Amino acid sequence: MTSDPQTIAVMVLERIRTVIGPFSRKAVVALHEPDFSDTRAAELVQDCINTGWVSTAGRWVEVFERELSAATGASHVVAVANGTVALRLALNLVGVGPGDEVLMPPISFVATANAAAHLGAIPHFVDIEPESLGLSPQALRIRLEELAERRGSTVINCQSGRRIAAILPVHVFGMPAEIEPILAIARAWELPVIEDAAEALGSWRGGTHCGLFGSVGTLSFNGNKLITTGGGGALLTHDEALAQRARHLSTTAKLPHPWEFQHDAVGWNDRLPNLNAALGVAQLEVLASRLERKRLLQERYREAFRGLEGVELLEAPAGCRVNHWLATLRFTAEDVALASRQRLALLERAHAEGLLLRPVWQPLSTLPMYREAPAGPLDRALEAAERLINLPSSPQLLISHG
Ligand SMILES: *Cc1c(COP(=O)(O)O)cnc(C)c1O
Repeated sequence: MTSDPQTIAVMVLERIRTVIGPFSRKAVVALHEPDFSDTRAAELVQDCINTGWVSTAGRWVEVFERELSAATGASHVVAVANGTVALRLALNLVGVGPGDEVLMPPISFVATANAAAHLGAIPHFVDIEPESLGLSPQALRIRLEELAERRGSTVINCQSGRRIAAILPVHVFGMPAEIEPILAIARAWELPVIEDAAEALGSWRGGTHCGLFGSVGTLSFNGNKLITTGGGGALLTHDEALAQRARHLSTTAKLPHPWEFQHDAVGWNDRLPNLNAALGVAQLEVLASRLERKRLLQERYREAFRGLEGVELLEAPAGCRVNHWLATLRFTAEDVALASRQRLALLERAHAEGLLLRPVWQPLSTLPMYREAPAGPLDRALEAAERLINLPSSPQLLISHG
């Protein structure tokens, strides 16, 4: 079996073609594209235009929240402008503020760290667990034991002198993080857990939807996510008081009154416009069929890559139902540098041929604005960042080519 990067690249592309059909520079295939073809999107958006209810109030916002509750089992859903503000609001709700540290994994979209930074807080990176790609409970426990100390009701990072205010696990590519041991550690230290479930609509660990293990979870409905509202996000919680506070702060902290403009806090204008919610309602109507198509797509990839040495398809962690948001391939060569060269060869060839494959994100701890941020050993994260590549995962690929 060859380990030559060019040969492997050719073989991987060949197998991707057997799943999604032809692609070329004239018919480019992106990683994940929005699809409204089998939905009532036009009708519901037209309703907003006809009625004039286009902005941050309107019946589609309420319907969208209700339908999201039904889809996830969340007692309360608050729809907001995007996944980043959902995270920022969630962190604020559990008391994260300027100068606080938030424990999080470095393998995530940049918004996870930005949301903390927007509040003046500081990301503190802790390594991942290589199977689920989520925050490692072990690394988290060790990191806290090594440098944290309880003082009264607060947890202090003895190295930086700053307060550690929250734990922020991420459910990467829709694969649930190992959340139960993380919750146990959080309970022991009395730290709140906010889950970044931006990529995990339709993903469950046991009988619980991602985002509903901790205090608050957040979703994103950006154009590349499983379903989209154009731009949008949501908070999921079982905590009624938190949900009420989220609604209040996201609507400029305005006190209810027929005409007075009374505000009792520095709030945000974070709510999801009705226009976007209308798109979301239309998308949620086809959520089940999208999830089913993505499950089939993953099955086809599994077949296609079976027996191909040097790569493996990531699979759902045990006991989880996952949404397969982005199918992910790992280069398994023992030598990380070789795996990385193989991946680069695949990226170059794929892009030259019109297939927009993407490596996993650059670890957040290596970005210029977070390079100085506190961090434990990140060996697993740095290695994952060399080995992983996302495959085209739009549910409509199965219909158009399959
Ligand atoms: C998409 C995403 C976000 C941010 O969502 P936006 O709606 O783009 O602001 C946050 N975290 C993760 C892991 C994401 O994938």
